[in-house]
Amino acid sequence: MIYDIVIIGGGPAGLTAATYGCRAGKSVLVLEKESFGGQISWSPKVENFPGFVSVSGAELGDRFMEQAMEQGAEVELEEAASISAEGKVKIVACASGAEFRCRSLIIAAGAKPHMLGLPGEAELVGNGVCFCAVCDGAFYKNKAVAVNGGGNSALQDALLLSEKCSKVYLIHRRDSFRGEARLVETLRQRENVEFLMNSSISALVGEEELRAVVVKTGEESREIPVEGLFVAIGHAPDLGAFGSLLELDEGGYAASGEDCHTRTPGVFVAGDCRKKTVRQLTTAVADGSAAALAACAWLDR
Ligand code: NAP
Repeated sequence: MIYDIVIIGGGPAGLTAATYGCRAGKSVLVLEKESFGGQISWSPKVENFPGFVSVSGAELGDRFMEQAMEQGAEVELEEAASISAEGKVKIVACASGAEFRCRSLIIAAGAKPHMLGLPGEAELVGNGVCFCAVCDGAFYKNKAVAVNGGGNSALQDALLLSEKCSKVYLIHRRDSFRGEARLVETLRQRENVEFLMNSSISALVGEEELRAVVVKTGEESREIPVEGLFVAIGHAPDLGAFGSLLELDEGGYAASGEDCHTRTPGVFVAGDCRKKTVRQLTTAVADGSAAALAACAWLDR
């Protein structure tokens, strides 16, 4: 089978592209390496997606998926490892050994969380160092935890953790937040949340399990006992495997035109892995529709 469009990534951008591609009468396959719904699935509450006053990210992700499948998209849990795009038929080779053929391709591979880069951090992942409060918050019930970051992810993580943990230290490197003021206001009213502004984590304490973080504020350092550290300092794309097809900027984001077409004919990019200024759920779904319509026009040219 040769698909009209193969989409790499089953997050909001990829699933929106699938819906639009199917509705234009194209055969569409979505490949997702981890879990359909993408990063937004880990957001406890989304309150800025038009049409929904408040909805969990998981529910929204499920709805994107249901809608794409209802329109006829096929889906596979596969990790795309490389792409051969020389001929008219492009071949996506997966880590499992499976191969999928298509005439056009939309890369909507999202982004993965940044790490702090501290000694011992990688070893403590899963043993105190976490990247998702929705996934791992329950392990820290009635315990003290820290959240590092100042964007919406950090604020939402801190909010969710404040409902179950005895204490939440919100550590941010500046004196103001990048995330929404409404979330900051709510957090300020939580008695068990302590804001540590103009502060950074300089070391992690613990070998088998995290026991404390060392927080530096100005010249002063102090060790704060916590059992969990939720790192929420942003994300970066991981497009290395497809790098030869794309023009990547210094941050690893793929350049494209407004129609999401990359420098490789028939290869489009959408969502958080695309070079752009605003990365929101709304811009991810906007990219998905633009990339799919551009791919359809390219197929029909
Ligand atoms: P983000 O908005 O890029 O915020 C990253 C935060 O981490 C910033 O406050 C940044 O500090 C800080 N930071 C970056 N590198 C750091 C380092 N090395 N050490 C310490 N701090 C560091 O990332 P995000 O919170 O993951 O959000 C990503 C996008 O998704 C955003 O556009 C966000 O609005 C969106 N989002 C939306 C929802 C929703 O409900 N719709 C939920 C979650 C996320 P500075 O501010 O000083 O740069």
